[in-house]
Amino acid sequence: MLEAEELLPATMKRPSLAPKAIIHQKFGSKACYRIEEVMQPAENSFPGLALTQNVRSLYKCYLDLPELSVVSGPLSKKKDAEHAAAKIAIEKLGIQSAVDSPSPQEAMDELIVRLAGFFTDKFLSSAHPLVQHIKVALERAGDHFGMLPMSAISTCDAKVNNLCKVINPKADSDPFLVLSLISRAARMSASITCDELWIWKQGFHPAEFLNSTNNCASVSTEITEVEALRIPVLRSRDVETLTLNFSDNQYYMDEIAQKLHVRDSSRILVSRNIGKASSEMKLYFSAPDVSALASNSSIEVLLAVEGNNNTETILNERASHLSGQHIYGDAILAHVGYAWKSSDLFYEDISLSTYYRMILGKLPDGHYKLSREAVLGAELPAVYSTRSNWKGPAPRDLLYAFCRQHRLSEPLFSIKNLDYGDTSESYEIAQNSHFSVHADEVEKVTGGLHDLASRGSGRSASVFRCDVTILSKGQDPVIKCSFDDSCRKEYDAIQSAALKVLSWLNKYFKQPDMPIEKFLELDHSHDIVVYSRDFIQELVKCLSLYDTQRINKHSSVPIFTNQHNPKYENGLYNIDGPDSGIFPSPGSVACISYVAFLMMKDETMKEVVKSKDLFEFEIGSDAVINELESCVSQLVVESKDMFEFEIGSGAVINELESCVSQLTVNQSAQFVVEAPSRGLIFSAAGKSAKHLAQLSLQNCFLEYSVKLLQVTEPLEDRIEQALFNPPLSKQRVEFAVGRINELHATSLVDFGCGSGSLLESLLDHTTTLENVAGVDISRKGLLRAAKILHLKLSANHLRKNNIRSTVLYDGSITEFDSRLGQFDIGTCLEVIEHMEEDQASLFGDVALSFFRPAALVVSTPNYEYNPILRRSSNPGKEDSEDRAASTKFRNHDHKFEWTRPQFQRWASDLAARHHYSVEFSGVGGSIDIEPGFASQIAVFKRGSDQSKKQFSRAEEPSQPYQVVWQWSDGSAPAAT
Ligand code: SAH
Ligand code: MG
Repeated sequence: MLEAEELLPATMKRPSLAPKAIIHQKFGSKACYRIEEVMQPAENSFPGLALTQNVRSLYKCYLDLPELSVVSGPLSKKKDAEHAAAKIAIEKLGIQSAVDSPSPQEAMDELIVRLAGFFTDKFLSSAHPLVQHIKVALERAGDHFGMLPMSAISTCDAKVNNLCKVINPKADSDPFLVLSLISRAARMSASITCDELWIWKQGFHPAEFLNSTNNCASVSTEITEVEALRIPVLRSRDVETLTLNFSDNQYYMDEIAQKLHVRDSSRILVSRNIGKASSEMKLYFSAPDVSALASNSSIEVLLAVEGNNNTETILNERASHLSGQHIYGDAILAHVGYAWKSSDLFYEDISLSTYYRMILGKLPDGHYKLSREAVLGAELPAVYSTRSNWKGPAPRDLLYAFCRQHRLSEPLFSIKNLDYGDTSESYEIAQNSHFSVHADEVEKVTGGLHDLASRGSGRSASVFRCDVTILSKGQDPVIKCSFDDSCRKEYDAIQSAALKVLSWLNKYFKQPDMPIEKFLELDHSHDIVVYSRDFIQELVKCLSLYDTQRINKHSSVPIFTNQHNPKYENGLYNIDGPDSGIFPSPGSVACISYVAFLMMKDETMKEVVKSKDLFEFEIGSDAVINELESCVSQLVVESKDMFEFEIGSGAVINELESCVSQLTVNQSAQFVVEAPSRGLIFSAAGKSAKHLAQLSLQNCFLEYSVKLLQVTEPLEDRIEQALFNPPLSKQRVEFAVGRINELHATSLVDFGCGSGSLLESLLDHTTTLENVAGVDISRKGLLRAAKILHLKLSANHLRKNNIRSTVLYDGSITEFDSRLGQFDIGTCLEVIEHMEEDQASLFGDVALSFFRPAALVVSTPNYEYNPILRRSSNPGKEDSEDRAASTKFRNHDHKFEWTRPQFQRWASDLAARHHYSVEFSGVGGSIDIEPGFASQIAVFKRGSDQSKKQFSRAEEPSQPYQVVWQWSDGSAPAAT
């Protein structure tokens, strides 16, 4: 057998142009090359000895073009460097050298030749899938004997499609235009005839094919049922399953034609392949009724002439969205066709779940959810904190996937190294250029560059910023984003920029029907520029699986929510299992298992269950069908044995995150939420979606059952615990106790008490304290604090301490509350760095002018100490930076971390303003050994001449704080 390729003339091979020549062709004098010499000392060279032969000169080439700048890797010849840079630019701009691709006229000529090739006798002995279509045509009796639907050609032959694209780029999105180009070419070929959408051979077919095929017709036929989907043009109608019946003696296109209610198989238009690259899933829809095909007529033009009077002329939004092509009228999505080298029809069933998963995969966060296999649990995280805490595909890869899905060019990441001041380097990282690399290698390659560039300037504190540009396939800008914040590593700068773009897109995609202009107005994303015409053209946003309105609009039964359900009081969950004391805090990684049940509060579900044998109701191994209450049935739609995510990063749905943050390890809980959209449920449900299709899903809700399996503490805590003995947090407590005793303080307020670690420890110490209070803005933290303090205080009969009352307040420490105006000592440990700098200063002013404790202890990380933590956290490992240095700070929740001079300046100025004295100290490390303490502490003391109540405001009762919990031993009234 001969391959078709051997039979059909290939384009003449022409010598290709050098990269620089191609750039010159396109940009002329606008292309600007700049060579930079980089010295690379050869190994064994002796310092001080001018052994010229031992020093190799290398050259990098910078190429600036109007829309892009690139830089080559270091090469030994200037010329090579220039070509290398040009080559990178060519690849990134997607320029095809003019000689590689034919002109439209040449493509037309080639198309004519290629079509003629299909109708030669020789072709019939090749392995091309089109051969089977031709054989079927030769079996056919009657009027259409020997005739091929033109779509059969575009369905089977990629080359024809590519040539059509060259003749008219619009052919890419318009299957009908492809047919009109085929028809035009056929008319110009002497050996082919065509009429309407049929195409056939001029002259006779060889007898042997007619004979061999005629035999087949008498063979008894078996019918095969194949599941396909109907995607109705009217959005109000759901996508539904339909069965195609294929038999040996019937043309599969005829069966599809029948299901589409069109006259014959020639009237079917076929989309490109949909879904994975290997898949042969295609959309079939009916051609507009035209008696004669005008050349180069696109479907849009035809429809404009015909007018919009029937559904065949209405754009099928869902189908068009799925294929990225113009699909009109009802469409059938089927997986069927002929393959190379086989005469058998191949086919596969398509489930509703497959369809919805493809739609979900097109959303900015869809790929993330699908690849984590957690459609109902996961959300695209809002922050990229550290590489080790990020679970699932990296943001950069997600953005690539998104652009691929929407037929956009690969995103361009442009890195700026802010250290090099005016000469700040800007270069781009692309995936396919030889300079650039796979995401994981980006660091090494560019790192090497910087070693060269930063020689002599010290390479300690590089800072990187990354811009992202997304271009259409035609290289027109669609979105440009630049971001202000910077990262210590290029890898992180890229990931974090990619994530921001995705999050922004996600927000847009989740707003059904909001025009982009309006969205931009509301969104205030100043750093994102959208070229709205191209944006709208490229990102046809017609489907959001997040639209829950459709599913719940008829709901007559109120949906259960945690508020309405007595089972779940006050937003708290019914938690099972003893408190293990190990709880997740922001920045820690939680590992959970969960099951999401679809709950149906009506009889529909039961009827389905009854009507079928329970075991026939196949939902894979996790099938659980249960009867809960009188008429609530449940069905597992998603379950995960182990799911890891970073607390506080928004990596799971809100309800799940807040539930998990109230659990301790080994505890479990349940909660319910409103049902998400039908599409999302189907995407999650997989196989069982088929059965769900029979249900209305109107009165459904989801119940999640969650168990917290394990918690990995945030990096900051891990380092501190590993490095310091006792841990820094303990040392801070000891430090505070020292100051309390020194002052003989009887009352203490802990500003930003979090989950109460200081207050709890104070109960174990003998101090002079009688009244203690804590303030925080985190309810979660306060609830934990309350729980622990309550347990300890009620169990503690033989107390070391003298504490008589304890209160926890919910409030911001930047606000004054007069109930805390009379306290002896204030502590504020590791809190200010969690606030913006101006808020930290405001707190300082409010504390020293209104609260006015006799002493205030403020601790915060010493930024200068970070390199030591980083080194020690992973000694000797080259990639130690991955974990610790991927954020600038010790904890991604930190808004800043100060050096000693910065902190001392802040504290001294503050003290001076309010007539306090200040002394500096710290814990972890030592004051005389560089770089000082790990945690720096300022102790403010009220000037002795300053009266306790200096400001009248302190006397006005102002009580913005809310009491969350209080305890008193009865001997004294609680300090409310
Ligand atoms: N002091 C505690 C907690 C430190 S974590 C300890 O040493 O363990 C920082 C805490 O500051 C968090 O609990 C956070 O909720 C709190 N916080 C941040 N901004 C705040 C504000 N404006 N008012 C009150 N608390 C705040
Ligand atoms: Mg902190």
